[in-house]
Amino acid sequence: MNIKNPENRNCQNCRKNFTIEIEDFNFYEKIKVPAPTWCPECRQQRRYAWRNERTLYRRDCDLCGKSTVTIYSPNKDLIVYCLKCWWGDGWDASFYGRDFDFSRTFFEQYKELQSKVPRMALLSKNSINSDYTNHSGDNKNTYLSFCCFDTEDVFYSTWVMKSRNSMECSYIYDSGERLYQCIDSRKVYHCQYSFLLENCVDSLYCYDCHNCNNCFMSSNLRNKSYVFKNEQYSREGYLEKIKEYDLGSYETREKLRLEFLDLMLQNSIHRYAIMERNINSIGNQLYNSKNSKYCFDAEVLEDTKYLYASLQLKNSMDLYHIGWNTELAYEIHGSRGLYNSQFCHLCYDNQELQYCDSCQNCKSLFGCISVKKGNYMILNKKYEKVEYEALKGKIIEHMKSTGEYGEFFPPSIAPVCYNETQGNYYMPETRETILARGWTWEDQVLGTYGKETIKTEDIPDDIKNITDDFIFNILKCEDCNKNFNIIPNELNFYRREEVPIPHKCPECRYKMRFAIRLPRRLWHRKCMNEGCQNEFETPYAPERKEMVFCESCYNKKIY
Ligand SMILES: [Zn+2]
Ligand SMILES: [Zn+2]
Ligand SMILES: [Zn+2]
Ligand SMILES: [Zn+2]
Repeated sequence: MNIKNPENRNCQNCRKNFTIEIEDFNFYEKIKVPAPTWCPECRQQRRYAWRNERTLYRRDCDLCGKSTVTIYSPNKDLIVYCLKCWWGDGWDASFYGRDFDFSRTFFEQYKELQSKVPRMALLSKNSINSDYTNHSGDNKNTYLSFCCFDTEDVFYSTWVMKSRNSMECSYIYDSGERLYQCIDSRKVYHCQYSFLLENCVDSLYCYDCHNCNNCFMSSNLRNKSYVFKNEQYSREGYLEKIKEYDLGSYETREKLRLEFLDLMLQNSIHRYAIMERNINSIGNQLYNSKNSKYCFDAEVLEDTKYLYASLQLKNSMDLYHIGWNTELAYEIHGSRGLYNSQFCHLCYDNQELQYCDSCQNCKSLFGCISVKKGNYMILNKKYEKVEYEALKGKIIEHMKSTGEYGEFFPPSIAPVCYNETQGNYYMPETRETILARGWTWEDQVLGTYGKETIKTEDIPDDIKNITDDFIFNILKCEDCNKNFNIIPNELNFYRREEVPIPHKCPECRYKMRFAIRLPRRLWHRKCMNEGCQNEFETPYAPERKEMVFCESCYNKKIY
């Protein structure tokens, strides 16, 4: 192939035009796959459709019969093993091996295999008393939290690393302690309702502050103490000011929450994107990377494009939640430690895999599910190396003729339904749209309604007035009407941190934090500082109200 120009194509999913650049063609050539037929956004939606991160159910293990927490609803036609059974030696995935039938499509046969091979209930490793965690590991007493690693006593949180005693946080990268409602922060202690903090202590309602302590309702601060509403006070003066607030009161907290949203919107300078120590790269929340484009929530990348929530990768494209020494990866979700692998889902520590799901420590597999330490297998059946290579080549040719090769697994055969996945948050669609596309929708998502034992207006306003027996109440979410309750450790946390009882369910609280973060998309815009002509790629859409500055104007403006 000798391609010299970028090419415009029409996305086969959304019908919008998209461009395939020369560098993209070079990558496809290197890994010998045809160029994609879907646009970058639709490709990400297809990967979102395979990630059920936080919709949990209970279901009996199909091997030992014990009840286990799982991401697969009991009504799904799947074989689900608890983690102990799945990782145990009591079964062998090659038992389910079958021949490839050249008279049928690959995905049709793959779906059949999927309904027979046991699946892991969810993804969790080395954790203690943390059953309700998924895509997580090395946690202790962590509850209803997702993508959390090395945490202790963390509740209702997402993407929290090396942290403890915190609740309702999202994207705490390092060393968080005693945090409540903090987002995109690192090295923070005893902070609440804050966004983009670094090295901060004892601060509340702060936006974009570094190396600060004792700051309240302030933004864009550097190396400050005792700042109240962006004004410098003496220690005594600051403490007097804070005393004016009864922080344990729900009514007070609601006013402060709205004031904080207003502070971010009206009275703060916004850096065009969070980009640190990168060379020739564009994206947001991107760190220590080189030649990486359209990468979000990612670090230590080199020569990559369209990566989301990924780290330590080279020479790769179109990935979602993958990393840890991975190279030559393409169209993969939820995997780590891969070399030269494409079109995979939940595969750890493998080489030369294509179209595999939940395979671990393997080499040279094609179209396999739940294989541990296997090699030269196709549709879970073992072959000799020479046989394997020849058959794989023939299947790839067959898949090219059916238009299947070169594309990630279609959402129509995902083992989870769209409304259970991250697609439902990042790219929401109606039930009708999803079903019209032939994708799936779960109508029996867990949750009870109408069982509340206390009305929202009867919850004591102040945490001081909540008695020990409050944990026996069933509450009703003021947004979605779903019932929820307060667990004992949670009540202890609220009391210790002077936080009132929430009126929304954990899911709606997650959605509020989700709404504060920026989308994983970029727009080309101009710096809003008067007179500056600088342009940049930013996750702030043009219609947004925030003051968005280029790097140099932003640096001149922060205090
Ligand atoms: Zn599209
Ligand atoms: Zn079991
Ligand atoms: Zn709710
Ligand atoms: Zn500027």
